[in-house]
Amino acid sequence: MREGLTILVMKGARVVESLLEKYLGVTKSNEQYRHLSLVLISILTCTGVAAFFAFYNLVIDYYPPLFYVDAVGTLMGLLSLSALLLFRRVLLASFILMLMVTGVCLMVIMDRNNLDYSLAWALVTPVVSVFLMGFLYGALYSGLYLAFVAWFAGSNLGVWQPASWDMDSFSNLVVIYLLLFILSCYYEFSRRASHKLLQDSNEKLRIQAFTDALTGLYNRRYMEDLLLNSDQDFFIAMADIDNFKKVNDELGHDVGDEVLISLSKVMRSSLGSNGIVGRWGGEEFMIVVHGESEENFTGQLSSLLENISGHSFGIGRPVTISLGAVRHSAKGHRAALRSVDEALYSAKMSGKNCYKLVNSISD
Ligand code: GH3
Ligand code: MG
Ligand code: MG
Repeated sequence: MREGLTILVMKGARVVESLLEKYLGVTKSNEQYRHLSLVLISILTCTGVAAFFAFYNLVIDYYPPLFYVDAVGTLMGLLSLSALLLFRRVLLASFILMLMVTGVCLMVIMDRNNLDYSLAWALVTPVVSVFLMGFLYGALYSGLYLAFVAWFAGSNLGVWQPASWDMDSFSNLVVIYLLLFILSCYYEFSRRASHKLLQDSNEKLRIQAFTDALTGLYNRRYMEDLLLNSDQDFFIAMADIDNFKKVNDELGHDVGDEVLISLSKVMRSSLGSNGIVGRWGGEEFMIVVHGESEENFTGQLSSLLENISGHSFGIGRPVTISLGAVRHSAKGHRAALRSVDEALYSAKMSGKNCYKLVNSISD
């Protein structure tokens, strides 16, 4: 039973999905999808219910006034469906649907008074109007509707007698219950789906906020946060590509970009889990290694230089970097950055493709 219901729901969802894609060109990833599928499902459900009652009042329990009401409701449902799918007028479709649903309910109430528990049809209006027209217009419409129903029912105080509990009353209540239940379930389902979409896009933004778009390395913001907000001591090294202008000038900017991407990979794999590398800007990179022994650190810098100069970048010439390095603590952050710059300058002056480790100058 449960499996059958799941298959039915999935098939229904697929029909809605394909209708929206075919007629409105909207797919699941579109932000309009939730609202449009809600409108379409509401149109299909309400038109189906109106058609069922038209059939019921014509064939099963012949009652012409309600048959006409439900037949008009069915026609309005079809009108709303064509406004949505053929003319792509979402608001118009929603409005026609709301007029149809609440109008049919009102006519049932006015025709049957309180017989067959018909007053319960008024409960459909707040849910449908807020769903389809949004909070403001939905609440306004619903308020006016309530005022009219309250006036109508109030003017019959003492006139209407208790309704009998028969099959009509029973089916009215069950159908109203199911309708509200389905709409509530759909609302909760789409709320969760939107929440999930929001979470996913927040996660994407969070990752983008600390990732460099070209190389996929951490960006400068992340590296600075790391250095400023950690109570651990690090060794840091600033890397700058040697003669990179030449690569750009002679081979083009795109090739230069490719070199930056490949170099990032080489640096990441060379450091492994021992260090973190981020793009500081342009063709400069910041390397952060936990402050173990100086020897270990310089060993890592030497192998980094070797790995890079020995790597084939596919541009017909080797690529090398120079490194300025210093011990870093969050307290002396600015001073460490100044020192690392000086160390880098000194590495460049010493012929490039080498590292220089200096003591941090004090603030
Ligand atoms: P040095 O050995 O002294 O560092 O010489 P250099 O030619 O590398 O000089 P410098 O470090 O000043 O060069 C920076 C060059 O890096 C200039 C700029 O065109 C290039 N560059 C910066 N960012 C990018 C980028 O995102 N893509 C590419 N292709 N080039 C970049
Ligand atoms: Mg530079
Ligand atoms: Mg350079």
